[in-house]
Amino acid sequence: MDSIILKDFEVLACHGVNPEEKVDKQRFLITAEIVTDFTSASETDDISNTVSYSELKKDIKAFCDENSFNLIETLGVKIAERILKKYAGVKCVELTVKKPDAPMSGNFDYAGVKISRKWHRVYLSLGSNLGDKNGYLDLAVNALKADDNFKGVKESKRMRSAPYGGYATEEFLNSVVECETLYNPRKLLAVLQGIEDEGGRDRTVVHWGNRTLDLDILFYDREVICEKDLCIPHPDMVNRFFVLYPFMEFNCNFVHPVLNKRMSELYDYYKNNKIRYC
Ligand code: AMP
Repeated sequence: MDSIILKDFEVLACHGVNPEEKVDKQRFLITAEIVTDFTSASETDDISNTVSYSELKKDIKAFCDENSFNLIETLGVKIAERILKKYAGVKCVELTVKKPDAPMSGNFDYAGVKISRKWHRVYLSLGSNLGDKNGYLDLAVNALKADDNFKGVKESKRMRSAPYGGYATEEFLNSVVECETLYNPRKLLAVLQGIEDEGGRDRTVVHWGNRTLDLDILFYDREVICEKDLCIPHPDMVNRFFVLYPFMEFNCNFVHPVLNKRMSELYDYYKNNKIRYC
């Protein structure tokens, strides 16, 4: 991968916890490293195929001028997210915000923060087995598309499947969504639960019971998370034809980070044996 670097760019702005920092501008030094791919820029030698560092500098300056945050942490994260959302080819942003005149005594070069943000590739499972099932899945997909912390939202074909888990009684409508997100795994879970709530999800119903809308995280990059209320990759996906089958529309060569098998192998195994791999 290639990088564009803007080093120690000085802006005068009002960010800080102290009341005087909200009115008296002070110096901030911003370093941004933008990870992208120069292949098409170098082949065409055309500035429209890269990120213009002068445009980047203008954007950062405007953002620092137009806002006033207590924390340089907030300023840094929001600048990084803005760059990722605005410039399509940017994979990752490393950002440093330095405050050389931070209001504290003693000799120091600067107080500062370092931030790293990127788009994360996620796969989600969607299901509904009550009421207007297509309508609930539409609601979920539209909610993801309307949130600019997601991009490239693609839904597989929808498939019907028999009630699952022993408690549900109605047939399900299921699909898989592939997208990229800026949310971390926990925030992503909370956002998905918010969408389930918008879809009238009744959480008093028994686990694996009937539900208007169910959204699960299947994969988050290749991360493995094993916590009480969050398990990624989703441990049940290998039992679920209604996940494995639609997943094949996306990346059948994706390697499950725990089982260390391609998704196509897990799909074939389940299809041929009607039981999960391992
Ligand atoms: P469900 O009945 O499938 O909606 O189960 C939801 C519960 O599973 C929530 O309380 C989550 O905290 C928990 N959970 C654990 N891992 C996951 C995951 N990968 N995706 C979604 N929910 C999860």
